[in-house]
Amino acid sequence: MIEKQASCEDDQEPALLPVAEARRRLFASLKPIEDSIELPVSEALYRVLAADIVSPVNVPPQANSAMDGYALNRASIPKHGEASLQVIGTAWAGQPFTGELAEGQAVRIFTGGIMPAGCDTVVIQEHVRRVGEVSGELGTIDIDSDVVAGKNVRQAGEDVAEAQMVLPRGRQLHAADIGVLASLGIARVRVVRTLKVAFFSTGDELFALDEHVPGTPLAPGKLFDSNRYTMAALLRGLHVDFIDMGIVRDNEDDTRRVLLAASADADVVISSGGVSAGDADFVTRVFHEVGQVSFWKLAMRPGRPLAYGTIGQAAFFGLPGNPVAVMVTFLEFVQPALKHLAGMHDIDSLMLPARCLSNLRKSPGRVEYQRGIMRLDEQGELVVESTGKQGAGRLSSMSAANCLIVIASEADGVQAGDRVQVQPFHGLLPG
Ligand code: AMP
Ligand code: MG
Repeated sequence: MIEKQASCEDDQEPALLPVAEARRRLFASLKPIEDSIELPVSEALYRVLAADIVSPVNVPPQANSAMDGYALNRASIPKHGEASLQVIGTAWAGQPFTGELAEGQAVRIFTGGIMPAGCDTVVIQEHVRRVGEVSGELGTIDIDSDVVAGKNVRQAGEDVAEAQMVLPRGRQLHAADIGVLASLGIARVRVVRTLKVAFFSTGDELFALDEHVPGTPLAPGKLFDSNRYTMAALLRGLHVDFIDMGIVRDNEDDTRRVLLAASADADVVISSGGVSAGDADFVTRVFHEVGQVSFWKLAMRPGRPLAYGTIGQAAFFGLPGNPVAVMVTFLEFVQPALKHLAGMHDIDSLMLPARCLSNLRKSPGRVEYQRGIMRLDEQGELVVESTGKQGAGRLSSMSAANCLIVIASEADGVQAGDRVQVQPFHGLLPG
């Protein structure tokens, strides 16, 4: 009988590193970059704050009306019955009323108008009876006295208070954050410099899409290099600067040359293919020669061969060649690593419990990331179905999916009806 060597067909292989341990090593080895630049707020979308933002002001700056109505002092009207008030002026948004109010008086006020001195409450115009002839906005109004003190008033600083910590360092700015910064009068922010990521595909079988003459068939044995396109799209969504180093053929010299050039130029280098143990797998071989290997074989599927370590100053990820494995290892390892390097704190992707409607095959000993389609069923429960066959070469299964079904290492399959964990692509796939 032939003595078989370890391979990705094995259910159990003691040398495989658990995913959690690989992630621990990954984060322990990556030092967030410290260089920062200052940018106008209008150009800071998706950038990562390099310093805490503390509010220099109150927002809103003064108490103002949340509605169109009449501003008054609650204490100056009786507790019960009706009250008649004399309207002595108007507070417009941007044009305050500066006069003094006496007992029994009110001020016409519009949304955003500053509360006149001595007023603490706004009665909306729909709850007021105007009495007799009203000249302009002036005249007399009747109101019910069951008015709640402080009603319809936005207090100074109720959105953001002066000296309050508004956005912490490490925050990736989204649209609302940009607006909040503008509302504080902050025109420029200090952000972490953009990460530089170089990537390439490896394989003698690969054909570059941009060299293809439409309508001509590919030579036998060739296939289009899709991984570089997937990778570029994923990186674009992460708002990093990227350098496409093209296709590297399966030989040691080209692999070494490109790995060294890329790592001299970028913070992070990513390759696909050539990380198994075959004769044409030059990435692992050259990586062992020119870099510091941290891990290589993981207890996960797809993605068992995932080389990680450093080459010079750069972090290096040698992703597997199979297109689904590229995406899964990118989402589970490269993406959190890039976020960590960029100083982001919020890097874990969302995991939701769902009821699985499919039987899923799996062997214990490795975490599996299967492609799923999740939805709410008629009862409003989150359910998930498999996309079908799960081969790591079937990139279309990734395209059909809207989540990954993450099945724990010790599980030996899933029965329809079981609870599983899903990672929704919304939030996981960068955008
Ligand atoms: P490898 O790990 O290099 O043996 O590649 C594993 C499988 O993925 C092979 O079937 C390759 O043809 C395929 N593959 C590798 N790189 C790419 C790529 N850039 N685009 C599409 N398929 C690829
Ligand atoms: Mg290959």
